[in-house]
Amino acid sequence: MAKYRVVCVERKPATGHHHVTGVGIVRGKRALERRSVIDVRKAIKVKKDTFYTLDSTTGEKVSVKRHKCCGEKTIRSVADDTKADNLAALSSCNRLTWYMVR
Ligand SMILES: [Zn+2]
Repeated sequence: MAKYRVVCVERKPATGHHHVTGVGIVRGKRALERRSVIDVRKAIKVKKDTFYTLDSTTGEKVSVKRHKCCGEKTIRSVADDTKADNLAALSSCNRLTWYMVR
């Protein structure tokens, strides 16, 4: 099982919020990789890979979980339900970045 750190996200607008549709992930010194939300959800479900992000204020690792929002299958990362989604706070993946690492 590989552990990946999510460093950026791709979003799709929904009413008053966004749904994560893709992520940019890194592992060790490897180059940035793109994963679709479908692939991430599948990897989590079959316990193939785990994903986490770092809380911008505490620096703590927060695991990424499968999540349903507005009936759509997406992901989120929450330390607990009282806190904000750390994934939502990540910056958007730059399309140019994908171009360069492809
Ligand atoms: Zn939603």
